[in-house]
Amino acid sequence: MNKEYDLGIIGGGPAGYTAALHARKCGLSVVLFEKDKIGGVCLNRGCIPTKTILHSAELFSQISNAAELGVTVEGVKADFSAIMAHKDAVVEKLRKNLELSIRNAKIDVVNSLAAIKDRNHIEAAGEIFECAKIIAATGSIPRELPNIKFDHEFILSSDDILALTELPQSILIIGSGAIGLEWARIFSALGTEVTVVEVAKNLLPIADIEVSKRVERIFKSKKIKFYTGTSVESVVNGEVKLSNGEIIKPEKVLMSVGRVPAACEKVEGVEYLGDVSGGIQLAHCAIKQAMRSVEGIAFDETLVPSVIYGTPEIAWVGAREQDLEAGSFEKSMILISALGKSHCDNCTDGFIKLLTQNGLIVGAHIISKEASSLIHQVLIAIQNKIPAEKLKEVCFAHPTYSEGILECL
Ligand SMILES: Cc1cc2nc3c(=O)[nH]c(=O)nc-3n(C[C@H](O)[C@H](O)[C@H](O)COP(=O)(O)OP(=O)(O)OC[C@H]3O[C@@H](n4cnc5c(N)ncnc54)[C@H](O)[C@@H]3O)c2cc1C
Repeated sequence: MNKEYDLGIIGGGPAGYTAALHARKCGLSVVLFEKDKIGGVCLNRGCIPTKTILHSAELFSQISNAAELGVTVEGVKADFSAIMAHKDAVVEKLRKNLELSIRNAKIDVVNSLAAIKDRNHIEAAGEIFECAKIIAATGSIPRELPNIKFDHEFILSSDDILALTELPQSILIIGSGAIGLEWARIFSALGTEVTVVEVAKNLLPIADIEVSKRVERIFKSKKIKFYTGTSVESVVNGEVKLSNGEIIKPEKVLMSVGRVPAACEKVEGVEYLGDVSGGIQLAHCAIKQAMRSVEGIAFDETLVPSVIYGTPEIAWVGAREQDLEAGSFEKSMILISALGKSHCDNCTDGFIKLLTQNGLIVGAHIISKEASSLIHQVLIAIQNKIPAEKLKEVCFAHPTYSEGILECL
């Protein structure tokens, strides 16, 4: 006999588990199918493991350079296998917490590959599940280039890199999006020789042009080598040939050239959420899509913030300067070094840049310590159309990075 549910969800990543938890809050019966580990890419192979390793790597770098702040530490060492073990422990702890929440919410979990039969039926583990509604939240997979494929030994994906047991002496990273940039920062902080190859004219081409240019300056100051407007022509026998004719022989190659939605046939009447939907590939976007779908909570997909982690953080939301017509906007910018707090923290690199039109902020671009938090202050103003003049009435504490927003206004 078929098992019957109000909602069947395929995929236990941020989109899937959020939809499941919120549907239970609304009193629906829910079955969740996951072929691998609950938490999806975000928890197991994405956001959480990379940010945990990044924190260890940058801590090592900060301690190594702490003498200028009056703190001398002898014998500082980065133990790569211990860093990776710590990452595994953090992921496992968070996964257990999530699994507990799912159990407490009385969501039925089926640990199996699932297939949609039609808009109301899912087949998994040899059974048919009848669902009044089906959500597919099956995520995405790393993209390959037509001429370069993962071999999982030398040419690595963002999944493979998490399984490294030894720190490479040198690495070549193809692509300078969020994943490439964060790994460049991790390896550079740990002392690996890093080369980034980007086909676009600037690093981080998805960002505002001034952010991209500043990232290039930061990379230069950290001695991260990079090529822009350059592609990788071939990778043969450990040799990477660039379009400018140069040949590089790194110990490893990380190919981070984007992700593609997981292969799945679209079935009418089924809702597709998160990375598989083919839109913005960010965990918080997946989460908000799920909340909108299940509870009807409004979500404006044009106002999804982007964050690149590391020192300094990079965050933005809304319009980029290159997207706006010249003369149609006003730009204000403040250097982070103008803020007292940045000198206290020895983190003076970066800027806050606000773009306004008719007195309303339409874009914010921040490179700064705490940029991942700062961006939300501006986002709340943008989303609620709070005029820049009104924001000026807010009292920002001193010394903080938030003061930079006030200064900018
Ligand atoms: C290295 C890296 C770093 C990242 N860092 C960030 C970050 O800092 N911030 C951010 O917002 N985003 C980040 N992302 C992106 C983020 O991880 C994704 O946007 C997010 O995980 C998408 O959630 P999802 O629920 O759509 O899919 P996923 O998290 O991919 O989950 C999909 C799940 O579906 C399961 N599944 C697929 N097919 C089936 C099937 N047929 N049957 C059963 N189960 C199935 C999969 O096993 C998987 O667990 C990062 C990604 C990577 C790779």
